[in-house]
Amino acid sequence: MIKVAVNGYGTIGKRVADAVAAQPDMEIVGVSKTRPNAEAFVAQERGYPLYIADIKKKPAFEAGGIAVAGQIEEMLKQADVVVDATPGGVGAKNRPMYEKLGVKAVFQGGEKHEVAGFSFNAHCNYAGAVGRQFVRVVSCNTTGLCRLINMMDREYGVSKVWATMVRRGADPGDVKKGPVDAVVLNPVTIPSHHGPDLQTVLPHIEIVTFAMIVPTTFMHMHVMHIRLRSAPVRERIIELIRAHPRMGLVRSSTGITSTAELKEFAMDLGRQRSDIWENCIFEESVAVDGDDFYCFQAIHQEADVVVENVDAIRAMAGAVRDPEESIRITNEALGFIPI
Ligand code: NAD
Repeated sequence: MIKVAVNGYGTIGKRVADAVAAQPDMEIVGVSKTRPNAEAFVAQERGYPLYIADIKKKPAFEAGGIAVAGQIEEMLKQADVVVDATPGGVGAKNRPMYEKLGVKAVFQGGEKHEVAGFSFNAHCNYAGAVGRQFVRVVSCNTTGLCRLINMMDREYGVSKVWATMVRRGADPGDVKKGPVDAVVLNPVTIPSHHGPDLQTVLPHIEIVTFAMIVPTTFMHMHVMHIRLRSAPVRERIIELIRAHPRMGLVRSSTGITSTAELKEFAMDLGRQRSDIWENCIFEESVAVDGDDFYCFQAIHQEADVVVENVDAIRAMAGAVRDPEESIRITNEALGFIPI
């Protein structure tokens, strides 16, 4: 069993912990919190030993009825791999601690590529992560871009990509963020950072990205335009999406044309937390014109990176060398019911 710790039990960390706990070859040795809150109660309810950064805060946790197993360093000593899901920038500060204790670490997309020197997507570069000490799973948007662009590149060769990201303003539980009534160009400059971020995984892809944020909490929407090296065939693309373990085809027969309806669908399908781990490509939007391919894809920001973290752990531990095998195990353990 691969022993896994989760440092930072928040939006991503709590999902990664549950996904890891569901795997047949992994176990959770502990999760960490900085303060007692609802998520700390959930961790206790799930039976995850809870560790804290500052042991002086132990009485505050215990006063709230939450048992503390110890300090973060004690958790790390028991782990083969730690998933650092702390807020962007904190992971880089934690890295020396992981180095000192000789524990492998998976960082998140809020960190710079340099924190690990290797940015990861299971379908694109799994082999490169095998045995590594540090890996960074790219952000939710970059993960969604990597999957689709890599699939099209393998089939037709990608000449150039233009992608517009309409991003959710905040996560559903985040009461302090906006915008409330605006479309914010974020950034106003073109290109956005997403293109260069994709190139940390797929350096040969020419890409221009545009980004804005809107007042919604569930999912990003990508407007994709990919120029290919040979003319694509619409039916073949639909076939590829259907066969892809991390892509979902939003069938025209569902009548779904929005993120809100997708969330309802995911809840009705019984997905835990209504999480959608795969790219959601709208069947009716799939269009080709000469060498050009277009589509809309929705990306569940809280979920798509979770399964990538699980595959990164397996690669780093050297437990499974074949990416497709790891992806299959991860999906199966989560009980993927295709959308
Ligand atoms: P979050 O704020 O929801 O959770 C972070 C957790 O880390 C919180 O529980 C916080 O208490 C804890 N924490 C803070 N400082 C800590 C420290 N020093 N030691 C231990 N724990 C600490 O953040 P999040 O949204 O889960 O983001 C985590 C990372 O994942 C970031 O790099 C982010 O960019 C990336 N990411 C987030 C999303 C998303 O949609 N939320 C999507 C993809 C990637």
